[in-house]
This record gives sequence, structure tokens and C-alpha cells, in this order.
Amino acid sequence: MELRFKSLPALLNHFKDEATCIKYLELKRWNGKPICPHCGNDRVYRTNRGFKCAKVTCHKKFSVTVGTVLENSKIKLSIWFAAIYVVTAHKKGISSLQLSRDLGVCQKTAWFMLHRIREMLRVKQPVLLTGEIQGDETFVGGKNKNRHANKKIKESQGRSCKDKTPVFGLLADGKVNTTVVTDTRAESLKPIIFSMVERGSIMITDEWGAYNGLNSSYQHEVLKHNANEYVRDGFHTNSIEGFWSLLKRGIFGIYHSVSPKHLNKYCDEFSYRYNTRKIKDDERFSGSLTHIQGRLTFDQLRAKK
Ligand SMILES: [Zn+2]
Repeated sequence: MELRFKSLPALLNHFKDEATCIKYLELKRWNGKPICPHCGNDRVYRTNRGFKCAKVTCHKKFSVTVGTVLENSKIKLSIWFAAIYVVTAHKKGISSLQLSRDLGVCQKTAWFMLHRIREMLRVKQPVLLTGEIQGDETFVGGKNKNRHANKKIKESQGRSCKDKTPVFGLLADGKVNTTVVTDTRAESLKPIIFSMVERGSIMITDEWGAYNGLNSSYQHEVLKHNANEYVRDGFHTNSIEGFWSLLKRGIFGIYHSVSPKHLNKYCDEFSYRYNTRKIKDDERFSGSLTHIQGRLTFDQLRAKK
């Protein structure tokens, strides 16, 4: 039976000792069938400190954290679990400073933990999108006005972005997928659309020129935002725009600023919470542990509404 935790104290109360945490993680990662992370062999035996691969050419020892984002961490698993619970539960995320206070670890450790958790939340194998898909791009971060004149970044091609970082998003069935892009030209956006959206689907965008020509592969519904057209025949891009404002408010309010290099990780974190917004905090916690190593069980979460 699935364990339920109504709150963070309930979770900490259950995971009192490391052995309980390990058992839980083994179940979430392997569902009772441990696999050697070194060679992929499923014939393994238990040792007093973990497992050993039974394959003669491998014979390597491993624990449940080997090959996961928790590998080689000196932090106790219960503290990791608390961090994962908090990060996935807090609607707007949590800063490394706040997390370090909450968990009693130093800020550098909290910062590192947050990045590992974001890696865990990243969707490793996105599914092909079908049906009605809202596509839109936005610009995040940057404070051009505060920079010295010689450090200001010139207007780049495409929409005015100055030193902000462009992000492209596709939203289908209430779930968002984001990609940090170098610019918002057709050459940058279209390959993403073609690789992620099934031909023949309905693509809903605004009138940005990069989307011209999508009608040869999709039913392309163009909303003329410049002419104040935001809904037509039930088609709109309000959901993806709602996600952008959540992302920007979160990054501005909690993280203050994010370097372009790390922006994709923050997008992954916000996307994960957004896409699992209809499930409970403890389901979001346990669900995130199942793709600790990159196995895709995100579909199970996606299916749940
Ligand atoms: Zn092996």
C-alpha cells in the first residue's frame, strides 16, 4: 500500500532512520526488482551494505543511490526527502538560503541539493504532444537598465529581448514543456515544434512571424494579439501565458535572478510543479522519487488529473 504523509512532520516522523529511507527508495526506484546500475543486469544479491551484481564480468557493489542524483551525497536521506518534499510542495519554489535554514545545512549544500532536485524533476523523455497545443515564447531575467553602458547587451534579432533569455513553451492537455532557446527566430522554434508536436495537431500561437508556415503541417490557429484578439472559436494561449507569469513571478520573487546557464533547470522545476498541480503534496514527493534515475514514470503523473 502506498504510504501517505499529510505533512512534512508526518514525513519526517516516518523516515526516522536511514534504513527506512533506503527501503522506501529501493521500492520507488526499482519496485522490488533491483537492477545493477553499472551493467543493467537484474540478477543481483543483497549484501549487508547494499547489493552486488551477480554477472561474472561485472560483480560490482552498489547501493540504491548509485546512478541517481543522490549518489555520493553525505546528506542523510531523511534530509533529502524533506528537501524534495518542500521543493515540490512550495508553489513558487524555495531559495537556497531558506532551504538551508529549514534543514540546518549550509547554504552551499542547500544550493547544490536544489540543483540535484531540479535535475531529478527534469522530464527526460518527453512524450509526443497531440490534440490542441498552445505555443508561445517569453523572455526571462536580465536587468539591462542596471548595467554599465558598455556592458549593455544590444537588441538581438527577433522580439526585443536585450539581455533577457528567451524560453519557448508548448502546452497541451494542461501540461507544459519548456525549452531555453538562443533566440526566437523560426529556425530556433520550428524544429522544437516539429520534434514535439504530432503532425495534424492544432497549433495555437499568436501572430509572431516565426510561426508562419506551420499551417503546412498543422491546423494553425493564429490569434492576433496586436489587434486585441485573445480568444477565437475557443482557441487561446491564456494557459501558457499564465504559466509564464507564474515562472517569472517565482524567479523574481524567490530567486531574484537566474543566470541564463541555469535557467533551464528553474524552468524544469516550475514545469514539474505546474504539471502535477492537481495531485497532493505527498504524491508529488513520491512521484518525483520514481524518476530519480531518469526512468520515465512521468506518464503516470501526467495521466492523473
Ligand atoms: Zn553489473
